[in-house]
Amino acid sequence: MEEKEHTIKQIYVDAELKEKVKVKTELQPDDWLCIACNKKITTDKERFEYNNQTEFQFINPGGFYFDLITFESADGCREIGEPTLEFTWFKGHSWSFAVCSRCSNHLGWKYVGKYSFYGLIKSRLIKGAALFN
Ligand SMILES: [Zn+2]
Repeated sequence: MEEKEHTIKQIYVDAELKEKVKVKTELQPDDWLCIACNKKITTDKERFEYNNQTEFQFINPGGFYFDLITFESADGCREIGEPTLEFTWFKGHSWSFAVCSRCSNHLGWKYVGKYSFYGLIKSRLIKGAALFN
């Protein structure tokens, strides 16, 4: 009986270890993950230059500071709500909320206008490289 329990536990631990190794090898240092659930959201390869910049600081009407990084695509996001131009930070570009497609954490905004891109809040993402340490 004891022998059997040990075997079952061993199989369980091996599966768990295998999963951890799998997650680690698929992860790249330049990936950006949701800080709440570690889902891959996008990567530095997707950075989008708006006026020759990919990082911005904005204050919303409520007085909150946001450090944004702009990305051409963010496969880990889904959009919520109707796009609006109200208080937009990028002239002529309407925004809708961009949330993590796994845990719904609010990660930033999707902008559509002359260009289509995401502005994601730096503090709500974690860089893949940080998880390699
Ligand atoms: Zn998430």
